[in-house]
Amino acid sequence: MDKKTFREFGYRFVDWVAEYLEGLEKYPVVPQVEPGEIKDKLPDGPPEKGEPMEMLFKDFNEIILPGITHWQHPGWFAYFPANNSPPSVLAELLTAGIGAQCMIWQTSPAAAELEEVVMEWLRKMLGLPEGMQGCIQDTASTSTLVALLTARERATGFESNKNGLKIPLTVYASEEAHSSIEKDVKIAGYGRENLRHIPTDENFAMIPSALEEAIEKDKNKGILPACVVATIGTTSSTAIDPLEPIGQICARHGVWLHVDAAFAGTAAILPEKRYILNGSQYMDSFVFNPHKWMLTNFDCSAYFVKDPSALIRTFEIHPEYLKTGVDAKVKNFRDWGIQLGRRFRALKLWFVIRSYGVEGLREFVRRQINMAQTFKGWVEQEENFELMAPVTFSLVCFRYNDGRDEEELNQFNEALLNEVNRTGQVFLTHTTLRGKYTLRMAIGSRTTQERHVKEAWELAVNTARGLMEQG
Ligand SMILES: *Cc1c(COP(=O)(O)O)cnc(C)c1O
Repeated sequence: MDKKTFREFGYRFVDWVAEYLEGLEKYPVVPQVEPGEIKDKLPDGPPEKGEPMEMLFKDFNEIILPGITHWQHPGWFAYFPANNSPPSVLAELLTAGIGAQCMIWQTSPAAAELEEVVMEWLRKMLGLPEGMQGCIQDTASTSTLVALLTARERATGFESNKNGLKIPLTVYASEEAHSSIEKDVKIAGYGRENLRHIPTDENFAMIPSALEEAIEKDKNKGILPACVVATIGTTSSTAIDPLEPIGQICARHGVWLHVDAAFAGTAAILPEKRYILNGSQYMDSFVFNPHKWMLTNFDCSAYFVKDPSALIRTFEIHPEYLKTGVDAKVKNFRDWGIQLGRRFRALKLWFVIRSYGVEGLREFVRRQINMAQTFKGWVEQEENFELMAPVTFSLVCFRYNDGRDEEELNQFNEALLNEVNRTGQVFLTHTTLRGKYTLRMAIGSRTTQERHVKEAWELAVNTARGLMEQG
């Protein structure tokens, strides 16, 4: 491609993205596409000769766009958000243009040093303990895997590779913990039978005394407890495991404490939410995702550790071809995780933090928490609707309940969710809490205004009425 064509399409694509982000409401949040429909529109093999960009752009608009789920849509209330933002998109453009591979300091000094700096900014923004150091991982799943591998190495005196796991090592997480914990336990070689699911209280938070009982029971059997994963903001209901007592138990038993705050961690930038990290002095590692609730394009997961030397001992390698003269003076982030090659992710984070400022980010998060409180109020006032969990962040768990039996309620609420989503105006997903089918209203898209939240609520109420009338 010549420079003239590159410029022409570059400008057009920026225009396209600007219009897209402004005009998302004209799309259904989830495309009405049947499985295989997109594949059928694409050729079986690659073109032998290069094709003009004009044709590529046409096919993007006609084939790909109709099959896109619009995560940035103001009616996005599903899962958790994965926000982008204009400054983040612009940084991604520069990152792509530079095309640097940032595995070690020498392969891009600015990338390595900027990553160090923005991670320190994040540490201060969230009020994490002084001395914790961070790096960017792709996802929370990977960050937690890195934590579990480091915990495994520490528990075995960094000898597990030499001796194998002679005695079982155990991991503890609440029964509400994210599925990635179980996946990571399997990958890290603990074996899923060595993951203990600790019971939760009426707010779906881990019960510390149950954790300690489980640890003691394992110790008495000669099993070695290696890691506790506490969650700040569970995926089903944003429950908060109490770090202070959990941390004390970990300290007492010499167990690694990893904290998964993938979604809710961002809220700690608000002074009024700082308390969610009370007990953070006990943390050995901590993860939250700026790519969820901090306006930074996927992927960007912020991983912090108390003791970088344990992390580096777990992951470092010294092949001759990667040795440089400055290794003793710099951070080589290839030794901070699984992958060797690394994207320049720090740039978008830097752009986002500087462009919004900490105050701007606080306003963004606070506005969404306020909208959730408003929605919560509507649920409380409406006859035949009920809240299913405390509303601490921007997620509201609710359901329709007119007093019929639980099985029928589950069916009714499932039908309600499907009908609401069928409109294409909004997209909500569900969970089960103590076996009860629950709708999750996860507010958090950058483009969501209060009117969208109100429309979603009216849609839920009217749809429930419609379903009742149908019988
Ligand atoms: C979203 C989420 C994860 C998984 O995050 P990825 O970055 O997609 O791996 C893990 N834990 C919690 C609590 C989450 O909300």
